[in-house]
Amino acid sequence: MKMKTLSIIPLLSLSAGTPALAETPEDYRFPRECTTTEAGYPVPLCGKPLTKTPIVVKQQGTQLKSYPEHFIPEQETLAANEMRITTIGSGNPPVRRGQASTSWLVELGNGDYFMFDAGGGTVPALWSLRIPLAMLDKLFVTHLHFDHVGGILNLWDSMGWARNTPLHVWGASGSLPELGIAAFVENVQKVGAWHTKSKTGVIASGGMKIVAHEFDGMQFSPEKPRALVYDENDVKIYAFPVDHILIGAVGYRLEWNGLSMAFTGDSVPTKFEAEQSKGVDVFIHELFIDAPTFAERNSMPLQIAKNVVNEHTTADMLGRVFSIAKPTLGVGTHFFTNDYTVDPAFADIASTYGGPVVIAQDLMVINVTPEQIVMRMAKTDLLSWAAPAPRKKGQKRPKLDPAPTDGRTQSWVMDTRLK
Ligand SMILES: [Zn+2]
Ligand SMILES: [Zn+2]
Repeated sequence: MKMKTLSIIPLLSLSAGTPALAETPEDYRFPRECTTTEAGYPVPLCGKPLTKTPIVVKQQGTQLKSYPEHFIPEQETLAANEMRITTIGSGNPPVRRGQASTSWLVELGNGDYFMFDAGGGTVPALWSLRIPLAMLDKLFVTHLHFDHVGGILNLWDSMGWARNTPLHVWGASGSLPELGIAAFVENVQKVGAWHTKSKTGVIASGGMKIVAHEFDGMQFSPEKPRALVYDENDVKIYAFPVDHILIGAVGYRLEWNGLSMAFTGDSVPTKFEAEQSKGVDVFIHELFIDAPTFAERNSMPLQIAKNVVNEHTTADMLGRVFSIAKPTLGVGTHFFTNDYTVDPAFADIASTYGGPVVIAQDLMVINVTPEQIVMRMAKTDLLSWAAPAPRKKGQKRPKLDPAPTDGRTQSWVMDTRLK
């Protein structure tokens, strides 16, 4: 019988013959040195957007605003005619340290903020942007997969105490009452029973409420392709159905002041969603990794990987969607951004589409003006505190509701409190 010999291999020497992951976890720390991929794109997580066209000029010959290399919270004011779109989460259901699930933030020059989806792991990035928390009270949900709504408890808890007004959540109804956004919100509030009761009397309770704005997910037809679901302050948001397994999955198109963006959540590519997003400044569409890489990297049977990929959009199909929608900038998101996945995705997109494209990373910032679209990465504080709330003149501090008297900790336990 042969004896196994135990040998100690220095970690770095493993690189020959092992998968092309980073040499050590150190390599994935932000910011990494910005080397480029073979095809000339920046490597992920190095502080540069994954694109070769970080500036897209819309109006030639005009004086173009210049921006600092990185977006730093609280150091830039939006112009009155400007829109800023920030990737809060660019990833998938497996929440990665460098890539949370799905969430997007849209800020407008009129002072409005809109969140689109609040997937698992996304709140830390949102929090780090140092936005006055009371401003973050409008969430539009594309569908109820947890990688798009799994962060809602964090969102509720992190932001609610300072907002002191309800969180408003928009979304579609489903084919059954329990499949719509109203039922989801009701159930979220039910699981929050202990949480909410325990905080009553300690902090103001106005921010603990969530209000669902459910629109009819069954109303759409070829004759009625979209519905206006938000219309305030010159901002119009339309919803339209997307092909993502069940009724109730929607995309949104936001229009304000001649600027526009569309976000379709998850979807199998359709001509319909492309047409609904036609001509927008920024079209954010999912981009899924190819089945062989997905299977290999996740140690998953190829057939299962194919089943998942078939519910999503591959890179060549994303190019086809963009070639119909013709956005000024196409954004691929919901992608596994690794050093070795970027080039094949761009090559496949380029096989069907020649316009400007970026692959999203968490905390990518896109500034949109009538003249240009500029992409950068944000640098934010890993240990940031809440942004100061803007206080209006004469604004009173909220009154606290009375604390609950029933169901308190057993008195004999409380009697032993250390003084
Ligand atoms: Zn998803
Ligand atoms: Zn989904």
